[in-house]
Amino acid sequence: MLLNCDPNDGEGSMRLIEELTTNADQVQQQILNEILSQNAETEYLGGFLNGHTEKEMFKKKVPIVNYDDIKPYIERIANGEPSRIISNQLITELLTSSGTSGGQPKMMPTTAEELDRKTFLYNLLVPVMNRYVDGLDQGKGMYLLFIKPEINTPSGLTARPVLTSYYKSSNFRNRPINTFNVYTSPDDTILCSDSKQSMYCQLLCGLVQRSEVLRVGAVFASAFLRAIKVLEDYWTELCSNIRMGDVSDWITDSNCRNAVIGILGQPNPELADFIETQCSEKSWEGIIKKLWPRTKYVDVIVTGSMAQYIPMLEFYSGGLPLVSTMYASSECYFGVNLNPLSKPSDVSYTLLPNMAYFEFLPVEKNRGQVHQGVQCNGTSDHSLKEEEEHIKEEAVDLTTVKCGHYYELVLTTFTGLYRYRVGDILMVTGFYNNAPQFRFVHRRNVVLSIDTDKTNEDDLLNAVTQAKLLLESLRCILTEYTSYPDTSSIPGHYVLFWELKMRGNGELSELNTTVMEECCNIVEESLDYVYRRCRSKDKSIGPLEIRVVKHGTFDALMDFCVSQGSSVNQYKTPRCIKDSEAIEILNARVVGRFFSRKAPLWKQYTVGT
Ligand code: AMP
Repeated sequence: MLLNCDPNDGEGSMRLIEELTTNADQVQQQILNEILSQNAETEYLGGFLNGHTEKEMFKKKVPIVNYDDIKPYIERIANGEPSRIISNQLITELLTSSGTSGGQPKMMPTTAEELDRKTFLYNLLVPVMNRYVDGLDQGKGMYLLFIKPEINTPSGLTARPVLTSYYKSSNFRNRPINTFNVYTSPDDTILCSDSKQSMYCQLLCGLVQRSEVLRVGAVFASAFLRAIKVLEDYWTELCSNIRMGDVSDWITDSNCRNAVIGILGQPNPELADFIETQCSEKSWEGIIKKLWPRTKYVDVIVTGSMAQYIPMLEFYSGGLPLVSTMYASSECYFGVNLNPLSKPSDVSYTLLPNMAYFEFLPVEKNRGQVHQGVQCNGTSDHSLKEEEEHIKEEAVDLTTVKCGHYYELVLTTFTGLYRYRVGDILMVTGFYNNAPQFRFVHRRNVVLSIDTDKTNEDDLLNAVTQAKLLLESLRCILTEYTSYPDTSSIPGHYVLFWELKMRGNGELSELNTTVMEECCNIVEESLDYVYRRCRSKDKSIGPLEIRVVKHGTFDALMDFCVSQGSSVNQYKTPRCIKDSEAIEILNARVVGRFFSRKAPLWKQYTVGT
């Protein structure tokens, strides 16, 4: 079932949403039917179903899996075996996800048809937004969009991130112009593979066309804030380019350069003066409204781990609405926010029943842990380990989830994923017609995330274990550690709190800076590919910091958590802290701060034998 949505036909599109959500169950059954009948003969499904295509057999025989269960099949395809081992449709490329497996990005199969499904979802966003915000056809969007590196697998398939794939596709480049996709950034600036040149040129084009801009944004909040940082660093140069009507010499990508020159036009000293005056102000509070005064909202995802950026976005935007329009992943685009102007904390996504077949593993919250989690735990509002132990029931269908309950999303797609655990925990907040709406709660196990990196407790433990070996030379041992993502400056960075003890009974002596800085570096070297890429190539994460805290700090942390309702018996040191009071307790006891002095080695991933 591949539906079409004409973004210019507001009424027709809204009718389509009504139909899909009213008939959510029937649409889901039809989707499953189609997936099973198309793929029953694939090696993967055939092995479980033996040619059967009934839903009951599917639920009984096909296991719910994680990435590592399907990785061998995906690697076989990357190495040249035919798509039909998992999919009847031709797999046209592999999408590298920000999740990692064994330090390498996960790779998700995709097909040409899936690209059209994504376009369908993008098109649906137009009438939804138009319903809430008037006059979006009277100007442009300043969207800062980027591509990332890609590789060819041994079989010749391209492996790249989903958005890179989308922006390079003809669906994006030949998009019919509608109210929603007139951007200030020429495609050539988006498609420039040098991210620094791309960012600079997109900002320049956005500034030149400032009077036309009605909305600003990026995909994730972190990328948008990075753009503001670049603006802070480069506004004098940007203004000089506008004043002279010429682009800086270091913009050497010829497509990018020509595109910008086309937009820049004649020297414009008045505009340069105006921007200079705004940017020279001591405070940049509300800078977005000042530079782009017609802006109606900021279009960035601020749910999930991106919620940490809300205060900073509010500061720069001067209180403009922050709009999270959609919920999507490399595996599949899931759904849209049908109430886009709702507060970030109230955002719910309606999963569109035609995108894939969705199932939900019930996740029971351990009430005793909730309070502790809220106060002390990481990106979550409850303790993940407890949750996973409490999954009791079978996976349920989309329309049988219950309001107020928590679930882990399980996906069956047209592209060769069957009963695949996405790793996201969602909570049902209500229904739109018969389609449930979900709040994104958190990603399973992830404790630290600054940009697209997703570091889980095990990754962190492994990295700390590698680094602490160096403490031997200082005759020290690490007794406790925790972490937090410090996003008070751009780019944000990981902070580890370490409590150290001398071997024997001696007082902790002055720590050797070189050794401690090396510890920071080893942690970074030990983190996964996405972290290292963000840190070294994209520069979207700053140098990792270790803050050494004095003896007894972790006892104070425990006392605090217990005072907030944790049980002493069940207390486990949270490996990531978000609560500001808890962070304060740690910060007040810091005796030494050390930063990584070199960016970790970063190398493009490899696929194959
Ligand atoms: P990737 O596979 O790298 O595209 O990452 C997809 C993941 O990003 C999802 O599974 C979610 O964990 C997260 N994500 C995507 N969209 C949202 C959203 N709107 N709110 C919160 N998290 C999101």
